[in-house]
Amino acid sequence: MNIHEYQAKQVLRDFGVPVPRGEPAMSVDDAVKGANKLGGPVWVVKAQIHAGGRGKAGGVKVVKSVDDVKKESQRLLGSILVTHQTGPHGKQVNRLYIEEGSAIDKEFYLSMLVDRETSRVAIVVSTEGGMNIEEVAHETPEKIATISVDPVANICPHHVRAVAQALKLDADLTKQMSPLLTNLYKAFVDCDMSLLEINPLVVTKDKKLICLDAKVDFDNNALFLHPKLAALRDETEEDAKEIEASKFDLNYIALDGSIGCMVNGAGLAMATMDIIKLYGMAPANFLDVGGSATKDKVAAAFKIITSDPNVKGILVNIFGGIMKCDVIAEGVVAAVKEVGLKVPLVVRLEGTNVDLGKKIIAESKLNVTSADDLDDAAQKIVKAVKDAA
Ligand code: GDP
Ligand code: MN
Repeated sequence: MNIHEYQAKQVLRDFGVPVPRGEPAMSVDDAVKGANKLGGPVWVVKAQIHAGGRGKAGGVKVVKSVDDVKKESQRLLGSILVTHQTGPHGKQVNRLYIEEGSAIDKEFYLSMLVDRETSRVAIVVSTEGGMNIEEVAHETPEKIATISVDPVANICPHHVRAVAQALKLDADLTKQMSPLLTNLYKAFVDCDMSLLEINPLVVTKDKKLICLDAKVDFDNNALFLHPKLAALRDETEEDAKEIEASKFDLNYIALDGSIGCMVNGAGLAMATMDIIKLYGMAPANFLDVGGSATKDKVAAAFKIITSDPNVKGILVNIFGGIMKCDVIAEGVVAAVKEVGLKVPLVVRLEGTNVDLGKKIIAESKLNVTSADDLDDAAQKIVKAVKDAA
């Protein structure tokens, strides 16, 4: 689960991490009040969306009067911000964060993430912080240092020294880095974060280390341990179809293509997406209905797929193992009876109760094309969508 920058900064503040003072704002009025409370003389108006790259897209503005806070807030609230992370459709700005301005001397990059290879938390740092870290990683990877932390030992002086060396910090800044790193790591572990990214971590002109931006991602599997953090969820930032799918415990991820997929098993789902690509089209979603799906769950999944206006055809690809083909067939038939079917549907069933599944679909008189194997199924749905276009 992602949260907004202002929420992430509050979490970090609670762990004693230095962040600038700031006031969240849901309206222009809030923004003006917040700005007056902060007092100036410099403010930063920051669009709060679940995506980075705001700076380059005009979503972060440094201003020098409350009047300009108001102007920028009016401009941003309700507008659509398109950044390199939002995709071409962008994201609507519904919240702002008004922050006290900082005089920046240097911008660093610092992040923490769970490194599956070492089974440890990795600290990633670079002197090249700010708005171009993706380019740095691509063009000058030697400017990025990775330091891993033994979960038993936590942050030790040698981690601080390694980070200080990578960032070329002087003695005073190294001294500030020690509690900063310790507290960031504590926040990371205690809150079950999967990603914590501070970009930029800055040195101010008066030689203070502070976190000027914060992106946090929590491990969803641990969220039940943290009801206060779970309450920070902003569903308006998420795909409505994914929210609906999560209510039914479906592994669903919305994508940009036009072929809706209903598959069981993550591996088969990936293979199905690949083969759709191979035959020249793109999947509209990833969906693994899992092994224990009921008829209702399958029907819910099918409805989510059909609700997507980008879906021009549907491919149901089930290998019945624990999942039974007749359950899938019943779910599909029930969903179509309820919401109708306006696009071509290709069904490939194999495995447990396959004959019963095929019979249910045949007797339903649905306009279904059946397929024998994965290859056949992908070719048929691609052809059907092309013919219908
Ligand atoms: P992002 O583009 O979405 O990652 O948004 P950031 O919060 O990282 O802001 C983008 C950039 O705006 C930063 O890298 C800074 O260069 C600049 N910025 C943010 N806050 C301040 C501030 O208080 N003072 C100054 N001078 N620049 C700031
Ligand atoms: Mn940033």
